[in-house]
Amino acid sequence: MELEPEAEHGCEMPDPPDAQADRAFMRLALDQAQNAWLLGEVPVGAVLVREGKVLATGYNRPVGDSDPTAHAEIVALRQAASLLGNYRLLGCTLYVTLEPCAMCAMALLHARVQRVVFGAFDPKTGAGGSVLNLFAESRLNHHAQLHGGVEAAACGALLQEFFRERRRLSAQARAGDVERAGEGDAREAASGGIEVKHLDEPEEDFDV
Ligand SMILES: [Zn+2]
Repeated sequence: MELEPEAEHGCEMPDPPDAQADRAFMRLALDQAQNAWLLGEVPVGAVLVREGKVLATGYNRPVGDSDPTAHAEIVALRQAASLLGNYRLLGCTLYVTLEPCAMCAMALLHARVQRVVFGAFDPKTGAGGSVLNLFAESRLNHHAQLHGGVEAAACGALLQEFFRERRRLSAQARAGDVERAGEGDAREAASGGIEVKHLDEPEEDFDV
C-alpha cells in the first residue's frame, strides 16, 4: 500500500523532529483505537504528548457517549485541559490514527497544540490536507505543525478490518432475518439481528 505523494494533499509536511518517537507514540494511539473497536466504535485513537510523556489519551466514542463531538482528539484534549486546568495546551503534540476532521482541527488550533501527527489520510473528511487544510490556512489566527502518514498502513488497515467485520455481521444479521422470516415469525425477524447502525461510516477508502 502506498501513500499519495504529500504534495497532492496541498500541505506542508516537514520531517518529524524524531521519526522513531513519532512511530512509538502512534502505536500508543493505535492501542487507543483498539479500545474503540472493543466498544463497537469506529477505531480511531489519540494520545497527547508533552516533553516526551503521554499527558492524555482518547478514543472515538460518539455512539457510546451519544455525543457527536466525542472524536478521539476531542476526548484527549478535554482530558488534558481538565488535568492542567487550562484550555491552552502549549508545547503539546497530538498523535491520532486518522487525519483530523474540521471540528477536531479547529479544536486543536483553539487549544494551541504545537504539533499534530496523524496516521491514515481521510479523503472524505480530512482537514489536514485531504479535503481542506485548516492547519495551513493563513486566514486563521493559529497554526500548528502537521505531519501525516505515520504508521499509515497500520492505522488504515485497522479501519478497513473494522468495516469488513461490520459488513460481515450485517450480512449475517440479514441472513438470520430471512431464515427466521421463513419460519413464519416475520415480526421477530424485523426487530432482530445485530445492531450495527448509528456508526459514523467514513467508508473504507482510507488512503493507505
Ligand atoms: Zn474529528
